[in-house]
Parts: sequence; structure tokens; C-alpha cells
Amino acid sequence: VLFSETDLLTATGCHSCGLWRKCLTPRMKVSGKGKKRILIVGEAPGATEDDVGKHFVGKSGILLRKELKRIQVDLEQDCRIVNAVNCRPPKNRKVTSKEIDACRSMVWTEIRKNKPKVVLLLGKSAIESVIGVRWKKDLGGVSRWRGLAIPDKEVGGWIVSTYHPAFLLRQTQGFGQREKINEGLLKIFRNDLVHAVSLACGNKQIPPCTGILPGIHVLKTEKEALRYLGDLIRRRPPLIAFDYETTGLKPYEKNQEIVSVAFSEDGREGTAMMLSKSLIPLLRTILNDPNIEKIAANFKFEDVWSRVFLKTKVRGWVWDTMLAAHVENNREKYTSLSFQSYIQFGVPDYDSEIVPLLKSKKGKLNRVREIPETKLLMYNGIDAVFEFRLAQWQRRMLDGCYK
Ligand code: SF4
Repeated sequence: VLFSETDLLTATGCHSCGLWRKCLTPRMKVSGKGKKRILIVGEAPGATEDDVGKHFVGKSGILLRKELKRIQVDLEQDCRIVNAVNCRPPKNRKVTSKEIDACRSMVWTEIRKNKPKVVLLLGKSAIESVIGVRWKKDLGGVSRWRGLAIPDKEVGGWIVSTYHPAFLLRQTQGFGQREKINEGLLKIFRNDLVHAVSLACGNKQIPPCTGILPGIHVLKTEKEALRYLGDLIRRRPPLIAFDYETTGLKPYEKNQEIVSVAFSEDGREGTAMMLSKSLIPLLRTILNDPNIEKIAANFKFEDVWSRVFLKTKVRGWVWDTMLAAHVENNREKYTSLSFQSYIQFGVPDYDSEIVPLLKSKKGKLNRVREIPETKLLMYNGIDAVFEFRLAQWQRRMLDGCYK
């Protein structure tokens, strides 16, 4: 074998990137023994790293090594190290998305080959390199991702992000001899390192359902839907998550309708159906039954649509996953069901094809009717399952907080 897969992939990327021509240590190799199965993904070699041909030997490397040492982790012995971009950009300029794309195969080949238990991403470029292939919507900044432990099926472990130490070195407080790294940020950085290392060294495994879309029963005929709803009324399950797909946001605007409805009774499977007139009386009975407790994501949506379109009250609301996500962590862009499904269950972007068609301009209908029925019902059902599953997770987690 003349070239390994990595060499070939990297060479293809290198051709379009070209950074290797401008530095002293081109294509800096992955280093470290990785005894604790932590893969650290940095940004790009700096001037000192490029001179010496070694990862993290400049100022930010000294800080990283020191902070790891505080928690008994030796960078070279316990971790593997790679960068999002593995050649030094001229004058240490910011790396570009094109360079990150070109160099991504080095990072992912290392992940696939050595299966780290934790991939620790330092800074935005590392996040773009790894999470960027999962979460293709608005990636946002480091503060959106830092400290989260995202289970990843392909990694077979956790993805944890934090600030790049170079960022910390730029965030100082005090002047002259009293100048030091911002204490708050340093504390956050330390907590994130501890979190990552505890996952690498502990017994916590990623959930078995990581990255797997739930099974959905798509009810194609009205008869099947009537049978399911009738059965649900008879069985009276103690808890359900339910979810509507509608023609817009506001039911009291002209020509608005509920198009489909989905249920999950266990967080593993879901059942979805198109809504027709003959289903409405049965649906009302279910919604009105306070003994069937109910979960939704942003329940004021399901509540107002039930009141206005179905002319019924919903009784038995017990959980709103959006509200609970906000209580659990009030960082920005955190509460949506799709974001939560990614960070808690490792299922990224299951909705990106559908969501643009569900957006509506003021007073206008959205394009939900253009979505093929089966696709819409699958999506609707997945939402209901994740609502149930997320509510269970949040209840366990928040109960733990207050005990
Ligand atoms: S940064 Fe990566 S893709 Fe670009 S030339 Fe260097 S090794 Fe190749």
C-alpha cells in the first residue's frame, strides 16, 4: 500500500487548501498516546508549534497543559491531539471554513480509527470541523455548545466543547502586573475540562438509542386512525406526548387548519395520522380526559390550536419540554426540540428538509400541503416521540437537581 486512506483524502483536501505550501511543518501529524481515550481537537498550529513541529507548545499550549495537569491529565500521554486545520495559516490569521472543510478528513479519520471516548473541541473551528457535519443549521458560537456532552453514535462516545485556551489568554482582567485571565471564563474552562475527563474516565456510556430515529406507525387510512384513537380512549394511557402539524402559527387567522396529529405513549415509538373531520370527536375525548396526562414542546401551541380549531380544552397538561429546557439551561437557541434531540439523543437535523416548508409569512398559509403525506407523518411522529423521551429525561434530571 503506497498511500493510506488518510493520505489520499488529505492530499485531495490539501490540493484545494494549499496551506501546506506556506508553513514549516506541513500536515502536522496527529500526536499523543491517548491512554485516557480523549481526542483534543484544536484550531491550527501557531508560530511556535509550526517551528517546533509539535502541538500545543506555544502560550495557549502551556495554559492547556497546566490546566490538564491540575486534574491529573498529561496532554501527550493521556490524549490524542489534532487540529481542525493542520498547517499554520500565514501570520496566524483566522482559519477559513474552506480550510476546515479541506482538512476535516484528518480529524474524522482519527476519530474513526481510534474511537476516543471523548472528543474535546477547543474553540469555534474545532466545533465547525466536528459538530459542523452533524448540525448543519445555525452553528452559532462556542457558548452555544460549550459544556454540553453530546452522545455520538459514530464516535461511540461523547463530544464536549469548550473555549480555546488562546481565547482565554485574550480575555484578561486587571492591568500591568495584576493582569490575569478572566476568572469567570477560567472557571468555566476548568469545569468543562473536568466534565470531559470525567466522561472519559467514568463508566457513563452513550445511550443505546443514540443517533437512531424512532419507529413511527404511519396510519394511512381514516379507518386505521379511528381504530387507533378508539383504542387509545379505551386504554387511557397515563401519559402521552402529542404534536400537531398545521398550516400556520395562528389558528384564528383565515383558512388555518390542523393537518396531522401524532402521539407517543412511551418515547420509543410514535403513531401519526392525517386529521379528518371524523377523527375530531375522538380526539376531543382524548384531549379532554385529565387522566391522560399530556406532554408537548411549547404546549401553548397545541393548546391554542385545540381550543380554536377543535373547540376543546386540553386537560391534563403536565410537561412542556421547551419550558423545561429553558429552566434547565437558559443559554440562547437551546430549547427547540430539534436542538434538544441532537444534544440529548445524538439525532441531528432530522427536520431540516421539512421545517422550511412549515415557515409561514404573516397571514399566509405555509407549504405543509406540499409535503408528501408519509414524510409529513414520519416527521410529526418523530416529534411526538422525542417530546416524550425528552420530557422523561428532563423530569429525571430536574428531579435530581432539587433532591
Ligand atoms: S491545512 Fe489540512 S487540508 Fe490544508 S494543506 Fe494543510 S493538511 Fe492539507
